[in-house]
Formats: sequence, C-alpha cells, structure tokens
Amino acid sequence: RFISLEGGEGAGKSTQARLLADTLRQSGLEVLLTREPGGTPGAEAIRQMLLAPPAPGWTAAAEALLFAAARADHVARTIIPALARGAWVVCDRFLDSSRAYQGGEGGLDDADLLAIHRIGSHGLLPGKTLLLELGADQAGERLHARDGGSSDAIGGRDAGYHAGVAIRFAELAVADPDRFIRIDATGSPAAVHHRILTAIGAPHPC
Ligand code: C5P
Repeated sequence: RFISLEGGEGAGKSTQARLLADTLRQSGLEVLLTREPGGTPGAEAIRQMLLAPPAPGWTAAAEALLFAAARADHVARTIIPALARGAWVVCDRFLDSSRAYQGGEGGLDDADLLAIHRIGSHGLLPGKTLLLELGADQAGERLHARDGGSSDAIGGRDAGYHAGVAIRFAELAVADPDRFIRIDATGSPAAVHHRILTAIGAPHPC
C-alpha cells in the first residue's frame, strides 16, 4: 500500500502521482498523496533550506543528512500513521532519490545511505517503486515548457550529472526487480498513467 515514484526532473512524477492517487480514490480507497522532501511542516522547512534559491552549495554528505532528516520526520509523522490507519500512500520521491543523487553522482556509499535510512526512518521501504524513465532531451523539453528550462532546483548541476542520476536509478531498479517497476515515461500523461495502472494491476477507470 506504499508506492513511491522516482525519476529525474521532467519525467512527470508529480503529475503521475496525482493521477494515480485520483484513480485509487475513485475505487474507494483512502489515499495519502505526499512528496519529499516535504510532507510535514518540519520537512517542508528542510525543503526550503535545500531548494530555495540561492543554493547554498551543500556537500553531498550534508545534503544526504538533510534529506534523511526530512524523510525521518515525514515517515514518523505522516507516512506511518497513514499506513497504520489502512490508507494507501503515494509518495513523489523517496529514499531512492537519495541513493541516485547523493549516492550516484554525490559519491556517497549506498550502504551508508541505507544505514542512515535505518536510523532515521526504520528502514521503511515502499512496496512498489515506479521509476519513470525519459530521455534527457524530452525531459528538457518538458521542463522548458513548465518553467522556462531551469532543470535543477538545487543548481550547479549539469546535463552529465543528470545523465549519471538516470543511470544510477536504472541500476537500482535492476538490482531490486521485485520492488521496482520501470515505466516508459514518454507520451501523454494519460498514456503514462495507463501504463502505470497496467503495471501495478490496478483497475482502469472507464
Ligand atoms: O521532485 P522535485 O523536482 O521537486 O525535486 C526537487 C529537487 O531536489 C530536484 O532538483 C532534485 O534534483 C533534488 N533532489 C536531490 N536529491 C534528492 C531528492 C531531490 O538532489 N534526494
């Protein structure tokens, strides 16, 4: 009942998280739609520290710890209570973003990131992780249409960095095929939504 959506900037995670939550709700389920970093007042405050311009230029380790602190608050105060009352949780980014950004391109050790996650968030993992995959050119076009092309809220990261993140996401998916579902994120929002529903075995709305 805990589904995360992952992928690079411009892949459509937020749109697809919203569409998935709507469809699950239409079938009568209680759904918590949330995102990280964020989801509680404390975690939103950390989001501001990480993402509000001008970017202060955190080290990868400091970034990882701030994301993990935001996640710890979010997991304890929002996600676990929702799961405990029987709700579904649809989360836009989760641990795997830290593994791909601060781990892959940031150079931090994956075992260390998992250890931080165990300390901060009881090692909680989604039951399914939808990895939205889109080529850099198409992601760039979508970002340009959305906000004039600023592809990175943190700043200072180039196309090579984002290509490395995409490769790391794919490696994580290959290493854990029971949890990850790779989704072709090309095409219209409705087409991608349809692929997601098929992949998770959810009923398609008429
Ligand atoms: O999901 P969203 O686009 O709002 O992500 C906000 C920013 O945070 C993006 O620029 C993303 O690259 C960055 N990020 C990161 N490390 C994470 C999660 C997000 O650098 N673990």
